[in-house]
Amino acid sequence: EREEPNYFGAGPALLPTSVLQQAAYDLITYEGDNIGIGEISHRSKPAIKVIDDTKANLTKLYNIPDTHEVFFMQGGGTTGFSSIAYNLFANYAHKTGKKGKAAYAVTGSWSKKSAEEAERLGFDVDIVVNTKSEKYGTIPPYSEWKPIDKDTAYLYVCDNETVHGVEFKDIPGPDYLSEGVELVADMSSNILSKQIDVGKYGLIMAGAQKNIGLAGLTIYIIKKSLLEQASDETLRQLNIPIVPIAFHYPTVVKNNSAYNTIPIFTCHILKLVTDKLIEQGGVPAIEKINQEKAKILYEALQAYPDLYSLPVTNPKVRSNMNVVFRLPNEELEAKFIKQAGEKKLAGLKGHRSVGGMRASIYNAVTLDSVKLLVEFVNDFAKANS
Ligand code: PMP
Repeated sequence: EREEPNYFGAGPALLPTSVLQQAAYDLITYEGDNIGIGEISHRSKPAIKVIDDTKANLTKLYNIPDTHEVFFMQGGGTTGFSSIAYNLFANYAHKTGKKGKAAYAVTGSWSKKSAEEAERLGFDVDIVVNTKSEKYGTIPPYSEWKPIDKDTAYLYVCDNETVHGVEFKDIPGPDYLSEGVELVADMSSNILSKQIDVGKYGLIMAGAQKNIGLAGLTIYIIKKSLLEQASDETLRQLNIPIVPIAFHYPTVVKNNSAYNTIPIFTCHILKLVTDKLIEQGGVPAIEKINQEKAKILYEALQAYPDLYSLPVTNPKVRSNMNVVFRLPNEELEAKFIKQAGEKKLAGLKGHRSVGGMRASIYNAVTLDSVKLLVEFVNDFAKANS
């Protein structure tokens, strides 16, 4: 039992209380057995069912077509940064017999980290857009991005930048993304927050711990054709790094996400969260609520422009998940966070790299919670303007 938290932390983040209650029970005794879900073999029948049911839920929620496959790995988003490069270059070598390169859009700290990691591992990385000079406060239209070179395996974007609060609202069309270049998206902080057309992506990767689960599980949705890879021997000949086995997508998929030990309790939580999402009307329903939450919060902040400022200067790309804002000085910011805490509004401090405030309003944060925050935003403004 707990009082419903009004918690706006960026991740790990809030989960529905009913899910945690069920999970807590299942951790001790699962489906009538005298043993809990975290204690059984990842290859046992109940564990395999958890994996299969979770995959089925994701498939249903996102209308994932037959051309695509869902799988899970440990390691979080950061492991995704490395594994994406390893695997997609191995696929590109299979398709073309060439080493190839990758195009990265740098629109905030997470895409920057991912581009740096691909480069660090020895891959050829081309930055096609970089908004650092605009303090990551906008995403320019694709027509202004550097054209993608031929011999490019994939275009990488971070669909929602958790620290800087910018979110893509559309995906590139054929006029920018030429055929054969795969679209790869990190959706760690907005997976299942809005409707997407999965068929348009080569690969979607997301750590579970922000919008839909606990840390420890990373979700991958991949176009099946990308699971074909050049052999280790060919990769060596082409001077392309070979894929570490725990991150080797074809091996993980062949073993139904249990090539090595999958954190089954974490997967079970994801199953329960997605069950609940389906019950609530699926992604269209949650998207609507998420839009409403973001709308009322941004509007409240914009009503007091002398007090609150929005570092995301382009309103079109403001994130519906991570609402970042600032006050005129750090003393006021500290006061805001302290007084919010007194009202039991928690987790509002911005990322340590940028300061300021950040309200993360993921799926589990209710409209009522956001309304309380809006009320506080208004009251604080009246008292301090
Ligand atoms: N991508 C995004 C968009 C993130 O927000 C984060 C974590 N904050 C990561 C990747 C890294 O995830 P992890 O800590 O699970 O490695």
